[in-house]
This record gives sequence, structure tokens and C-alpha cells, in this order.
Amino acid sequence: MSTKNYFDNTEIAFKLKSDSELERAYFLFKMISKEPLVRIGTAVTKFALNVNLPVEGLIRSTVFDHFCGGISEMDCMGTVDRLYDVGVSSVLDFSVEGKEEEAQFDATAAKVEELTYFAENKDSMPFSVFKPTGFGKFQIFQKITEKKPLTEAEEIQWQQVIRRYDAVSKAGHECNISLLIDSEQSWMQDAADMLCEQMMEKYNKEKPIVFNTLQCYRWDRMEYLKQQHEQARAKGYKLGFKIVRGAYLEAENERALENNYPTPICESKKATDDNFDEIMAYIMDHLDDISLFVGTHNENSTYLAMELMEQKSISKIDERMWFGQLYGMSDHITFNLGELGYNVAKYIPFGPVKDVMPYLIRRAEENTSVAGQTGRELSLLKKERQRRKL
Ligand SMILES: Cc1cc2nc3c(=O)[nH]c(=O)nc-3n(C[C@H](O)[C@H](O)[C@H](O)COP(=O)(O)OP(=O)(O)OC[C@H]3O[C@@H](n4cnc5c(N)ncnc54)[C@H](O)[C@@H]3O)c2cc1C
Repeated sequence: MSTKNYFDNTEIAFKLKSDSELERAYFLFKMISKEPLVRIGTAVTKFALNVNLPVEGLIRSTVFDHFCGGISEMDCMGTVDRLYDVGVSSVLDFSVEGKEEEAQFDATAAKVEELTYFAENKDSMPFSVFKPTGFGKFQIFQKITEKKPLTEAEEIQWQQVIRRYDAVSKAGHECNISLLIDSEQSWMQDAADMLCEQMMEKYNKEKPIVFNTLQCYRWDRMEYLKQQHEQARAKGYKLGFKIVRGAYLEAENERALENNYPTPICESKKATDDNFDEIMAYIMDHLDDISLFVGTHNENSTYLAMELMEQKSISKIDERMWFGQLYGMSDHITFNLGELGYNVAKYIPFGPVKDVMPYLIRRAEENTSVAGQTGRELSLLKKERQRRKL
């Protein structure tokens, strides 16, 4: 089967974008393709927000509206409906980051729980999502990962983290909504993995409700997956995994170098790509035990998944197999997959402008550092502008 040009259809890719939204996207990607501009822009924006300069309106009408669904979940619902009309589901992602207070962790967990109940019986919203450090202090995750003893106060706070994980997993189980748990830096991730495993054992008996994330830029993840597979079989529960390449490449390598330990990251981009594809193929060979959410903007891996589905006679609407991209990125993959009838979803971040800035900065930096990706976005936007004669 030659599938190699499915994603070139820009009319389908951008059909939800008005001419002015298309122009904005083109302008935006042109800006973030320039690394010095992103560096300066990031610093100026952080400063302006810190000293309360009135820049929120500007951020909102540019980066924010391109990469986020709105300030509240209700703001996002128009987008959710429009996406669903063209065969694309939504994962609403409450993206408040970098707040280290117990009250904020409670508020975030309550929001995820509320969104899970809200999604019940809505075909357009089959998943909930959260980040481990949205539910507890980074430092506590790190201490547990490093096998260091917690203070009495930290032990109390850790019990609260477990309680938050349990509350949202229970909500997912009750509402039949799967829960995608993001992965973060390797030096805190063991603790997050451990919590995920506990939740899977408790709530994934009949079907995978709780999904962990495998970052395939880590060379140890295939081994971890196989060990997880054995453990789940022995204990009698299902696994769910989102697979991604990984978003903290530079920080991982820098920290390993500074602290003189071997980097957990694959030795090259090619090695990461191979690891991703092998992990994906392993899971697709064991879909009876493990469900898969392929989180990528990489066309080759997506084509490979489509080919493997055909070879292994996996139906396009098999509920154990999903694709996902981030809102505002790689629409050519999402909307063409939707048009072809695959299970595909967009992660839609939302939250107050100031609080989603860390997320937005990561997206800008990612689009700067992954040169190929921005080039691809720009050339597709250009093609569509020409097609529309803008
Ligand atoms: C739906 C969705 C959910 C996501 N959830 C998470 C999450 O929970 N945790 C998380 O960390 N990220 C997450 N991401 C981000 C993801 O990890 C990637 O940063 C992003 O998707 C870019 O990778 P790509 O697969 O799209 O492909 P590409 O653009 O082909 O690959 C870029 C990636 O390759 C890797 N890479 C680049 N250069 C090298 C090198 N020299 N050596 C080794 N590896 C290299 C890096 O991981 C880099 O991000 C998510 C992405 C999506 C689409």
C-alpha cells in the first residue's frame, strides 16, 4: 500500500481555518522559526507578565489562540464540536503549570475530575489528561525517584498526591473515560511510574482506563515496557500507554553532563526514531493486553502505524488504538487521519493566559529546535495560502 501522500492534502488539513486564521498561523510559524526571536520574545513576555504590563491581549490574539482552546473548558466547546464534525476527538488539557502550592494541586485535580465527569457519554471527548507535577511537588517526585527519605511534612503531602491520583482514576473508571498521564523529566519519573502502576492495577482490571506515557527518546523504555507487560500479565490487569518521543531533550542531556552520569537519552535522533517505532510495533503485537495512544507529529511513524494496522488487520476504529497531536500543530496529520476514519484526537490546552505560558513557551521552543517540523508546517501553510489565492 502506498500511503505516502495522505498528509499532503492541505484543503482537508486546514478546512477549519478561516483565511485570517490561516494568515495568523503562517505569520506565527514564520516568527517561531527564528531562534533568536523566540529567545528574546520569551524573555520579554516573561518580564512583561511579571511586572503586569498589559500584554495578555496581545498574547491571546497570537500564540494563545493558535495553541489553546480558551481560558475555560466552556470556551473550548465550540472547538470540540467543530473538530468532532470532521472526525477528530478532543482531549481537554488543563495546562496550568509551575505552581507549587497544595491548594493549586487540589484545584487542578478537582478540575481533571470535573472534566472527566463532564466527558462522560460525550463521544467527542474519550480521554482526560494530567501531568504528574500538576498534582504534587516536583521535589517530592524527585526525592522518591532518588530513593531519598521524605520529611514528615513531605510524607503527608505525598499521601495527598496518591489521593489525587486515586480520585481522578476512580472518576475515569466510573465514567469509562481513559486517563492519559503525561511523563516528565527522568529524574522524577520513577515515582510517577510507580503511582501509575498502582492505579493501573486497581482500575485497569476489565479495560485500560489509566494510561502511562513512554518517552521513546529514553533508551531504557523498551525494557520497561516488557517488564510492565510481564507484571500486568502476572497480576491480571490491562496496560495503556501513550507513546511520545519526549519533550525535555536538552535538559536531560545537560543535567547528565553536569552531574556526570550516562544520559538516559538515545544517542541520536535516528536511535530515538527506531526506538519509537519498535515500541509502537511491540504494543501493536499485543493489543489484547496493551492499548496504544500514538502521540506524534512525525509523519513516518504515523505512516508506519497505518501500514502495521493494515498488515495486522487492526480496524481503523479499534478502540485500543488512537493517534493524537497537539492543538495548533500538524493539522495535516490530524485532519487527514480523521477524514480517513482513524481514531484521532487533539490535545487542547486551556487555562488562564498567564498560567499556560510555560506550556506555550515549550511549544515555541520545540518548534524552533525541531527545525524540520516548523519547515513542514510553513510549507503546508504556504501551499494552502496559494490554493486559496491569499
Ligand atoms: C499528543 C501528544 C502528547 C504528548 N505528551 C508528552 C508527554 O507526556 N511527555 C513528553 O515528554 N512529551 C510529550 N509530547 C511531546 C513529544 O514528546 C515531542 O516533543 C513532540 O511530539 C515532537 O516529537 P515527534 O514525535 O512529533 O517527532 P519529531 O519531530 O520527529 O521528533 C522530535 C523529537 O525527537 C527527539 N530527538 C530530537 N533530536 C534528538 C537527538 N539528537 N537525539 C535523540 N533524540 C532526539 C526529541 O524527543 C524531539 O522532541 C506529546 C506530544 C503529543 C503530540
